[in-house]
Amino acid sequence: MMRPSMSMFPALQDKAWLTSELASKSVRHIAKELGCSHPTVRFALQYHGIAILFKARRIPQLHDKQWLQDAIDRTQDTAALADELGCTTSAINRAMSRHGLPPLPPITMFPHKADNRTLIRLFFLHVEKTPTCWLWQRSRFQDGYGRLQYRRTTHRAHRFIYELIHGLLLPTVLVCHDCDNPPCVRPDHLFPGSGYDNLQDMVRKGRSLRGEANHHSSLTEDDVRIIRTLYASGARLQRELATMFSVNQTAISSVILRKSWGHVAP
Ligand SMILES: [Zn+2]
Repeated sequence: MMRPSMSMFPALQDKAWLTSELASKSVRHIAKELGCSHPTVRFALQYHGIAILFKARRIPQLHDKQWLQDAIDRTQDTAALADELGCTTSAINRAMSRHGLPPLPPITMFPHKADNRTLIRLFFLHVEKTPTCWLWQRSRFQDGYGRLQYRRTTHRAHRFIYELIHGLLLPTVLVCHDCDNPPCVRPDHLFPGSGYDNLQDMVRKGRSLRGEANHHSSLTEDDVRIIRTLYASGARLQRELATMFSVNQTAISSVILRKSWGHVAP
């Protein structure tokens, strides 16, 4: 019998379409494009009797040792790379071990139920205190900010510690560095940034920061400035910005890398 979740997505009922999609995409990738869950896609495959090939076969990059090594050096994070390629982290880990590449230290995860004091204590186990800055020693984002996982969400380390100590901030408030050193998590080097005119403007216009009631799909010059400010300050991840502005992550990344909207200053 067809599951209700499957009948909601007509594309999943088209065996020929699914087969052709699967030739070049992963299950997760297809699920993401359709906006359904990957178990739903898996169920549809089973329903049609379509076999899933070994993942690495469909992702040629994973066969290329040099490419993989470079990508790992660039992202320092298998989850981010998995997201980029549309495969699972285990597919990447398997490919790395096949090529004899050493595994990355796992992303630091904090226990779900710990209280703030415990979280703060655990946090500083991963920090090296230099006479000036205190540096996050575990995985980092491409832009140098510390990265950790707590309650199934990826956080920026400096914002995480600031909020642990001072309480949660509104999404419009940025956590900035006095020292301009992204991996620094020393609490007295961090301060909440506000007074960004464009941010206030955004709030005034009623744009939802959480992307709930926001369905426009093209960006304005104001959006571009907001995206760059939020990203540079470390307040938001590319993925979060994509949700916030209802565009895909590639669009956000092009804005940040100035591949698009290059004429917008700063
Ligand atoms: Zn510092």
